[in-house]
Amino acid sequence: MRLSKIDPRTPPEPSRPRRAVAASASPTPSRRVFLLSATAAAAAVAAGLVPRLVRPAQADDARRASAPEQFEVAYSDAEWRKRLTPGQYEILRQEGTERPYSSPLNDEHRAGTFACAGCALPLFSSRTKFDSHTGWPSFWTPLAHAVGTRSDTTFGMVRTEVHCRRCGGHLGHVFDDGPKPTGLRYCMNGLAMTFNPQAA
Ligand SMILES: [Zn+2]
Repeated sequence: MRLSKIDPRTPPEPSRPRRAVAASASPTPSRRVFLLSATAAAAAVAAGLVPRLVRPAQADDARRASAPEQFEVAYSDAEWRKRLTPGQYEILRQEGTERPYSSPLNDEHRAGTFACAGCALPLFSSRTKFDSHTGWPSFWTPLAHAVGTRSDTTFGMVRTEVHCRRCGGHLGHVFDDGPKPTGLRYCMNGLAMTFNPQAA
């Protein structure tokens, strides 16, 4: 069973150019990532939630450079293609982004739990969902121990990528312009998730 989690569109580490980060990143975005982390942790404690939140990007980069990330649930690329719909595969395994307002989960307002479409791990509670007016299902915090993050420098931006902790499937990104109590906006692809009503 192959355990690699390598974006097929990018060259394998360590050839992924770190100079691109230096060229495109001003001190401001780096600092924002760090502040995001500290603010999020404090807010999560205040909210009585202890999810796995944004970690400093530097630590993620260092870990990524040393070894490919491994996940509890791992399949070969061919197996993932069989298990997922083409749309799910594009998002979860190729870090695609669905068209805004294209997912029915954007308008899902019932009580329940949003789970990973790749491995069924519960990811978000409906209690933390809010309307971000972006066209993507948005949450102010994930469930505890549900997601992992890493720095994403594609498209000339510095963003924090969010993936399923168990299978590594790409879910979306997290931004620091969300509502109270965390101030975070987990901007998710609806295709990457399934919804289970009343399970929250
Ligand atoms: Zn998963």
